[in-house]
Amino acid sequence: MATHSVRSIASGCLGRSGSLSLRRDVFGVYGTNGQTRSLKTQLDRIRNLPFLRLGLVTVRPAGSTAGQYNNLQRDVDAANEVWLSDSNAWIYVSGVRTDTSGLLGNNGILDQTSCPLGVQSSPSTEEDDLFDLGRDLGADVVGYYIAGATNGLAGCSAYPSGRRGFWVAMGASQWVLAHELTHVIGLNPHVDSSVAANADNLMWPNTAWTNTPPDLNASQSTQLLGDDGFETC
Ligand SMILES: [Zn+2]
Repeated sequence: MATHSVRSIASGCLGRSGSLSLRRDVFGVYGTNGQTRSLKTQLDRIRNLPFLRLGLVTVRPAGSTAGQYNNLQRDVDAANEVWLSDSNAWIYVSGVRTDTSGLLGNNGILDQTSCPLGVQSSPSTEEDDLFDLGRDLGADVVGYYIAGATNGLAGCSAYPSGRRGFWVAMGASQWVLAHELTHVIGLNPHVDSSVAANADNLMWPNTAWTNTPPDLNASQSTQLLGDDGFETC
């Protein structure tokens, strides 16, 4: 693939120009996960499949030097595995950041009680502060890696009105990012947990998935792809 083709695709489809990093700007890769990545496959993907821009913020305590969550790329690759396999869509990580402002206090635990699907109508002060982060990362949807929340969940997709996003507990299963993101995009609800076979589905309500990678069915994919956050080249 000639350089000018990469440049024209990066510019025309992703809005990236100037000094380009293939890894970050074309692949949307910001961490390590031991994967071999094909430029041709990625360029085909950019040109042909709908994608969703996602910003990711790792929240550390004030003064922490731990940096970005070490499994960030693993989780993004896992989410792309599910979306590409079942919905022919993919996630383009448009930017990442590590926050050490200490907005979650000394324990780093988010003050959150309820976790409704969609808008959190009465966010706590910490939820309100958290979902302000990363709004300049080039994405409508921002995911937050945090230590955990007072409700004990592994992740939650409830967001303050007008700031779409979700959080994932560092240390959670690699499929939690995909699960929370799929709650946000198209507002996909949980599958019925009284049906044991549904444990194969990404929207199973807990992390005891079976036959991973978890699946999205046709109606979930339709609901996902109906979200107006998707872009096509
Ligand atoms: Zn859920």
